[in-house]
This record gives sequence, structure tokens and C-alpha cells, in this order.
Amino acid sequence: MGLKTTSDMILTAGPSITDREMAYTQDAALNGWNRHHSDYIARFQNKMSQFIGVPHTMATSSCTGAMHLALSALGIKAGDEVIVPEITWVATASAVCYTGAKPVFCDVDPQSWTATADTIARCITPRTKAIMPVHLYGHPCLMAPIMELAAKHNLVVVEDAAQSVGGEYRGKKTGSFGVFAAFSFQGAKALVTGEGGMLLANDAELFARAQILGDHGRDLHKALFNNEIGYKYKMSNLQASLGLAQIERVDDIVARKRQIFAWYKERLGDIEEIALNAELPECKNIYWMSSLVLGTKISLSRDEVMAELKKRMVDTRPMFYPLSSMPMFEQQKNPAAYHAGLRGINLPSGHERTEEEVDYICAHLREVLGKSLKNSKTAVPSGWLAYRDEVAATISDAKETANQKRYTLPLMDKGKQVGQLIPFTQAHATDDAVIRLLAKWRDQSQDAFPGQFKVTFEGTKGWAQRQLMQLPDRMLFLIVDDKQNMIGHIGLFRFDFKKRFCEIDNVVRGEDAGKGLMTLATNALMQWGRDALHVKDFYLRVMSNNTRALNLYERTGFSEILRVPLVLLKNADGSLSWVSAGHHVYEAPERYFVTMKKI
Ligand SMILES: *Cc1c(COP(=O)(O)O)cnc(C)c1O
Repeated sequence: MGLKTTSDMILTAGPSITDREMAYTQDAALNGWNRHHSDYIARFQNKMSQFIGVPHTMATSSCTGAMHLALSALGIKAGDEVIVPEITWVATASAVCYTGAKPVFCDVDPQSWTATADTIARCITPRTKAIMPVHLYGHPCLMAPIMELAAKHNLVVVEDAAQSVGGEYRGKKTGSFGVFAAFSFQGAKALVTGEGGMLLANDAELFARAQILGDHGRDLHKALFNNEIGYKYKMSNLQASLGLAQIERVDDIVARKRQIFAWYKERLGDIEEIALNAELPECKNIYWMSSLVLGTKISLSRDEVMAELKKRMVDTRPMFYPLSSMPMFEQQKNPAAYHAGLRGINLPSGHERTEEEVDYICAHLREVLGKSLKNSKTAVPSGWLAYRDEVAATISDAKETANQKRYTLPLMDKGKQVGQLIPFTQAHATDDAVIRLLAKWRDQSQDAFPGQFKVTFEGTKGWAQRQLMQLPDRMLFLIVDDKQNMIGHIGLFRFDFKKRFCEIDNVVRGEDAGKGLMTLATNALMQWGRDALHVKDFYLRVMSNNTRALNLYERTGFSEILRVPLVLLKNADGSLSWVSAGHHVYEAPERYFVTMKKI
């Protein structure tokens, strides 16, 4: 099931949700109470136990909580030290700090980006009590030498397996090596429960201790009696129903992650100046995040590469910052962790990513890096984004008419110019007079929007930034009449760069111009879209009560292709929204969302 729309950035993460997840969660919501209040929790825990090959499992509200419980059950306390890799999500170190102990950061292997027995050994002191290997981005740590080292120094191992469900080392699953291990099902992870985690233990006694601590130090034999201050880290049955569906599909989900990385590797594997995720011998990496580290020969910074990709509708994330670079954790810096942590990028790796998207991402990445390698500017790709950048660079003042003319689309009626379309630029977005005008139009057209909210000047200003300037696939034009009055706006939105279609951003009629200017504007905009951006198909969506717009679009050749019933919902803040009524509609609703296509 796809959740994305054409307008979305190609996102870094995102889960796989199917009919199975829908069925289980619906069942849990309807029936998972009273006698059945923990059925899904038990099933989820059992399945996890079987899959990882560890006898004791406890679903928790987070992986962070699970790690805190593990360390607490082990009696880790103030004055102790716990070795944590320098690049990981901060949660590993936070869990250590919750106990009062000190996280000590070890370096990572430059290829797998994970801690090794060697890097860990260098950090052992008489205070060290535990080691927390992190299977970063799904690559297992080389556990045999780590377990040997731990045994030699009488240290316990708690695995942070948050990112590696399904990863293997020597045929054994990550999460099965340590005395404790913890997984995360937070929304960006390979398997999700929204928020959630799982604590796994090989030792029955330690596990029992963690269970008691995780449930307020409850007395096991005396109802509602507590023997000590504990914590509350339980997962709900509702979340567990989602988790069960996910773990039942884990093989497919992991296979997809591996497939996505294979697509990247095929297209980027030959670039010497970057390093991709590794898969060391005897390891199975689940490639939770397909990632790369920019080599020193690349002159662009990590942030510059990410910004260039964002302009091209590719969302990425920085690799985890080295923990010692954060204000609360000053200590000695580890060189390999600093290189990867400050030069690393997570590429879009969510389950829904397709080969075509990876193709697109890699082509653009090559172009961005190519620029850096040769240290010269290559031409930006023609089309939407290039045009936007060019307009923005040329027009810095809303009143700068000379340059604006270059980008102006004349509105012609019988050979005579009767108005024009002017690209909406940053200069407009920061011009109070323009914002006031937009606010007025928005207020007048209120009833044509799904959300019924109070229009304010500040709100409109924010909207212009976030919804007009910062969205890479939206471009607005101001409609100006022959007396230079701004009388409305119209734009293109949700540009699909592969299928070459987009939506007409609903025309907003400010001042009533008459003279058929709105029709001319709609036609001129589409012509420009065809010529400049090679758009093939135009769609638009409009509320059925907006009869003026419906008539206008029919006149310009649009036909209705879809009609979604709407209901009026009251939001928590008291505002009203028209939202899709789903299939629970028994009478003709008051309004529809109408999708039209230019025929
Ligand atoms: C996500 C993550 C965590 C924390 O998981 P939560 O469920 O959000 O508490 C811990 N460690 C690593 C390595 C993670 O990626």
C-alpha cells in the first residue's frame, strides 16, 4: 500500500504497512481489551523470541527504555563506566547516563562503522562494567572477538540492536549474543509500532529482575503492592498488534532493505571518492539505512551535498554526529567516528522506495558530486528546479520589474496584452503589502479550502514561506491586470518529475477582474508548463461547493475524473476541516473533493 503522493520529497525513511497490519490493529482496537488485553503482546513477544533465538522477551515502550532496564537490572550505577561506540543514536549513551554511570566512547571500524574488539579494548579501565555494541545501520558488530574480550575482562555485553532486526553474524541473529539486547520499533526503523521496543535476555533471573523494574517494582504475589521504585516501560497491546504483523513479515522487509541497497551499490559502487555501507565476511547487513561517507577528495561539505539533493526533491539525513561533539559529552575524540559522523549521509531507504527513485537519486548525486570533483559548475538540469533557482537568483526585489519581465507570462486576448503572470518570489514573500493581499484573498476564499481556519497576517506569512517558497515542487504566479493590479494567483503544484504531470494549484480570485482573465491565466500557465517543464498532463482538485472554479476549469478543458465524499470534522483546537468520509457514507454528502484532468 502506498502512502506517498506525487508531491512528496523522496523521503529517507518510512515503513511498510499492509492489509495484515490494518487487520491486526483493527482487531486489537475492537477486541484487545478485558480478557484479551495482552494477547497481542504475548504473541509479539513469542514471535520475536523465536525469530531472534532468545528465550526471554519483553515488549517495551521504547528501545531506550529497554536498554535502561537492562543496565538497571545489571546493577550498573554511578561510578561505573560503560563502553559505547562514538557514532550511534544518542539513546545508547542516554540509557547509560540514566543509571548514573558514564558512557565512554570507543572508535569504530572505518568500513562497517561499528565498534570492534580492538577499539573497545582501548577504552577498558578498572571502572568498566559493560560494553554496548551497536549494530549500526544494520551491520552486525563482529561479536565473537567482542564476547571473548568481555569474558576476559569480566564485562557484560548489552547489544543495542535497535537498527538491526534480522541482521546476522556467523549465522546467528543480532540481539542473541549479549546478556541483554534491545530492539527499536520507532517509526523510522525497519519494523515499526509507532514507538516501541523489545528487551531480550538469555538469563532467566536477570530477565525477571528487568521485568519487575519495568513495572514499578511490583510485588509478584501481592496485588498492587510495590517493593521499590521502578519504571514504567510497557508496550500497549495496540502497538503490539502492529508489531506482530511486522515481525511476521520481517523476511520480506529485510529483503527489501537489501534490495534497495543493491540498487544503490549498482549505481554508485564505482565512485572511489565515496564509501557505501559494507558487509564484512560472516556478516549479514540489513542496510536499515543505505548510506555513504564522502571521502576527503570531495570538496563539498556533507551539508552542501544534502542541500543540493534537497533542491532536487531528495531528502537525506546526516549520519549520527560523533557523541563527543555534543555539549553534554565532552571527551576524547575518535578519528574514524569523526570522519564518518561528519561526512556521512543516509540516503532514502524507506520500504516504499523504488528502483526508479534510486535511479533518479543516484543520477542527481553523481551530478552534485561531479561538480565537486572537477571543482567546476556543471549546468543544472533544465526544468522546474532550475527555473525556480534562476528566478530566485535574478529577482531579489518584488519591484524589480526589469528582471521580472524576463519571467513574466503575458496574458493575450485577441492579439492584445490584457495582463500578465508574475512568478511569486522570496521578495514577494517578505513584502508586507503582498502578504496582506494574500491574506485578504485567502479569507475571501475560505470556504473553498478543506481546512476552515482563521486567516491572519502572521499565518499567511508563514504559509508563504513553508508552503510556497520551501516546497520544491510548487510554483505560484501572481495574476496582474493591465493596470498592474494584482488580482489573484494561480500555480503549479505536485510536479511529478518522472511521469511529467502536475496539478494546477487552485486559482484564487482576489479582485473581480471580469474580462476572462482567469481563463487566460489558466491557459497561459498550462502552455508554459508544457513548453518550459515538458509537463504532459494536468490535474487539479477542487471542493464541489466552489462552483466558480469548477465552471472555470470546465471552460479550460478539464473534466471530472474522481469525486471523494467529505465530512466536516471538528479538530482538537476547535477549528473545522473537511476530510475524506471513507466508505461510511450512507447519504449524499454536502461536499465532495473533485479531481479533474485536462483532456
Ligand atoms: C532508534 C535507536 C535507539 C532508540 O530507540 P527508541 O525506540 O526510539 O528508544 C537506540 N539506539 C539506536 C542505535 C537507535 O537507532
